[in-house]
Amino acid sequence: MKIRLASALQADSIVDGQGIRTVIWTQGCPHHCPFCHNPQTHNFQGGFLEDIEDIKKELKSLKGQDGITLSGGDPMVQPSECLEIAKYAHEIGLNVWCYTGYTFEEIIQNAKQRKLLDEVDVLVDGKFIIDELSLDLYYKGSRNQRVIDVKKSLEQNKVVECPQYIGNKEIGYLYKKGSNIFI
Ligand code: SF4
Repeated sequence: MKIRLASALQADSIVDGQGIRTVIWTQGCPHHCPFCHNPQTHNFQGGFLEDIEDIKKELKSLKGQDGITLSGGDPMVQPSECLEIAKYAHEIGLNVWCYTGYTFEEIIQNAKQRKLLDEVDVLVDGKFIIDELSLDLYYKGSRNQRVIDVKKSLEQNKVVECPQYIGNKEIGYLYKKGSNIFI
């Protein structure tokens, strides 16, 4: 199976979720949020096709990664492809974050997107809204977005946000060396 990507895998990111992460930049996004940071990822025919088996090999070869982050673009427009990658990430001990312009409530109405949630630990949901922009939020760009604990949300059938990422960073973030924890 192949997935359409916007760029090569990006290892060692510290801004796309907790810890040290490999980002998978998917290509194609239907939301067209004004002032999107990645407008080059919107075109569904853009980027390039990559074999998922090759992505798995690359993930396996990387050292010192805590997890993968599905970003883009919108990973939810390629849910089956992202599911295969996310499953593999879990198999090799990596956690999975996913950024999407859809809301959690929209995703659970779509069978394929809902299935992807079974392999996502943290979902950052919602469009980027420039009027809600804040530079002091944890792992998101605008106040309407939510950093969601997917397992708890599915169990409780309602959105449960990760408590440590609600609210503002009052002094910016500090990285605790050796612990992979942002405070
Ligand atoms: S959902 Fe994300 S990638 Fe898509 S337009 Fe909005 S900010 Fe850009």
